[in-house]
Amino acid sequence: MSNFDARTSDMLALLKRLVETESPSHNKAAVDRVGALVAEECRRLGAQVEIHPQTETGNQVEARFSRPWLLCPDPQRPGTGGHTSQKESGAYGILLLAHMDTVFPLGTLEKMPFYEKDGKVFGPGVSDMKGGIVVALTALAAALETGSLAHPVTALFTSDEEIGSGTSRALIEKLAAESALVLVLGPGMVDGSVKTWRKGVGEFTVRVRGRAAHAGGDHEKGRNAIEEMAHQVLAIQKLTDYNKGTTLNVGVIRGGIASNVVPDEASLEVDLRVMQPGEAERISAALQALKPVLDGTSLEVTGGLNRPPMPFNGVKVIAANANIELKASGTGSASDANFVALLGIPVLDGLGPAGGEYHSEREFIFRDSLPERAKLLAAILREW
Ligand SMILES: [Zn+2]
Repeated sequence: MSNFDARTSDMLALLKRLVETESPSHNKAAVDRVGALVAEECRRLGAQVEIHPQTETGNQVEARFSRPWLLCPDPQRPGTGGHTSQKESGAYGILLLAHMDTVFPLGTLEKMPFYEKDGKVFGPGVSDMKGGIVVALTALAAALETGSLAHPVTALFTSDEEIGSGTSRALIEKLAAESALVLVLGPGMVDGSVKTWRKGVGEFTVRVRGRAAHAGGDHEKGRNAIEEMAHQVLAIQKLTDYNKGTTLNVGVIRGGIASNVVPDEASLEVDLRVMQPGEAERISAALQALKPVLDGTSLEVTGGLNRPPMPFNGVKVIAANANIELKASGTGSASDANFVALLGIPVLDGLGPAGGEYHSEREFIFRDSLPERAKLLAAILREW
């Protein structure tokens, strides 16, 4: 399968087109432009494409690829009939998952252009996850050219992964439930290993109320909500326990209206990541139990865990079934793979090109990883 090296320049050209079509999650029109591009590529490969329209986020793009001999049934071909009954049972095909949105606002390209240097490729979304989209499309093209998709393949390109997958989750779950294996084209680890588990992720908001007063005339009558919030920030950060893989990050604070007014309101937003069972509940309880430190202030805590932890189950078996030797590792970030894992469907993530520093201006992939990953994925599509 050395022909994959020959595909590298095509892969880079497609990646450049995708990256230079910026697609921040909150800009529907922008994400839809990538959706149109992806849909066009899928149709070119002979897929049946269905667009799932959305009002708030970009449209979801679903592309179904059949084995060529299913399109032109060949009664002589052994195994065809046997597969039919499995297909009717539902859990039969492979689902490829990739998202088209990025965390980068429009205009990021001006200071962070698409470019190659020293065997690396840089640009917004090059790793997360436009490189993965290119790997999926290239692997499908390669497998279809040789007429050897082992199973029907559905590829779902979603529009809102970076903002919690609110408008795609139901579709992801529906398609995953119809599949025997789900492969997520998320950013590959820097050493090329595949992600076999994910942390759970939660989000909490803490609102603090105090009492407003003029900072000059009535200072002592005020109850400073920001001062109270400062105590809470420290208490929340201290709940982090690296040994358990539990982290809390106060990432946003808000409060006050003017320096000469004692603020009566402040709020903070916390990101929670957990790895071990029970930790989500423990931290949730600890946050709910937060008590105000200053007299005359009050707290209100809302939020919870929005992605369940991914179980380890059966990942090595999947790799063996795919006849591929894979190095497995974990990661701190969450993805749509968690939804799939919760349904008990075998899932692998991190099948996108190896790279790193995603969500930052240094986001990159290794150039050579593009054909390597396409080769790996094509082998899974052929042999699994
Ligand atoms: Zn991301």
